[in-house]
Amino acid sequence: MHEKFSTCYASKFGVGNCPLKKQVMLSAEENAKRKGFSSDPVGDKDAEVESGILQKYKGRLLVLASGECALHCRFCFRRNIRQKKIDGLPQKLAKILKRDKTIKEVILSGGDPLMLSDGELGSLFNAIPKNLNIRIHSRIPVAMPKRFSPSLWRLFKRLGSRLIFVAHANHPGELDGKSKKIFEHLRECKATVLNQSVLLKGVNDSAKILAELSEKLFSQGVLPYYLHQLDRAQGTAHFEVSQKRAKAIFAELKELLPGYLVPRFVKETKGKKSKTWVG
Ligand code: SF4
Repeated sequence: MHEKFSTCYASKFGVGNCPLKKQVMLSAEENAKRKGFSSDPVGDKDAEVESGILQKYKGRLLVLASGECALHCRFCFRRNIRQKKIDGLPQKLAKILKRDKTIKEVILSGGDPLMLSDGELGSLFNAIPKNLNIRIHSRIPVAMPKRFSPSLWRLFKRLGSRLIFVAHANHPGELDGKSKKIFEHLRECKATVLNQSVLLKGVNDSAKILAELSEKLFSQGVLPYYLHQLDRAQGTAHFEVSQKRAKAIFAELKELLPGYLVPRFVKETKGKKSKTWVG
C-alpha cells in the first residue's frame, strides 16, 4: 500500500517524532508478520449480508460506502481489505431496508464515506427511509476540510437531527480552527457530533494526551465517544499498546476528566453481538 496524506493534514506535522506523521508514514515494521494479526480482524467478511453491506449488531446496518480515504492511516483495521466501488449500492441498500424493518440506523463507513461525490452520497441518503438515523464515520474534518462544499452542507441540513456524525481524531494536534468550524456547522445542521479514537503506541498512549484530546474536542463542541483498542490487522502490530498498559492508561484518564469527557474504551471481537468494554 502506498503512502497517502492530504496536504492539510501534513501542514499539522511537527518536527522530529511527530505523532501525526507516525499515523500516516510507511514503516519497515509493517512488513513483520505477527501471530494473532490477520487481514480481517473484526470479521467484516462474515458479517456481509450483501456486497459492501454488513450487519454485525441488532438494528444497525453498516455500509462500506467507499474504499477511498483522504489518508492512508497505517494502523487501519481495513488496510488489507479495501472495498471496491459497488455498482447499484443505493438500490441494494433500499431493498434490504424494505424487507428488514428491525433496522433503526444505517452507518456509512468505508474507507471514508465523504470521499463519495455529493451526488453519490445523496443517492445513499435517499435510499434510507426518513424514520431511520444515519451515522457517518469520517476522518475528513481533520484530513480534508475543503471537502465540506456548500452542496454537502445542504445534504446534511436536510438530514437534520437524523444525522450522527462520528469524527475520527486520535491526537489533539489534529484539531484546529478548520475542524472547529466544521463541527460548529454540523451542530447548526442539528447533527449529533461525536469522536472516536484508536489507542496507538507512540501517538496517544498517555493519559495526559488523551485528556487533552477530550478537552479539545469538547472545546470544539464534540463529545468523545469511543477509544478503541487496536484491531489486530496484519502490519499494525507496532501500534499496539498491551492490554495491561492500556488499562492503566485508561484508569489514569478517568481520574483526569469529568465522566462526560471519558470515552468508552472498547474492543471489537469477531462474531460478538456487541463491542466489549475494556476499561
Ligand atoms: S478507513 Fe479511516 S482509519 Fe482507515 S485509512 Fe481510512 S481514514 Fe484512516
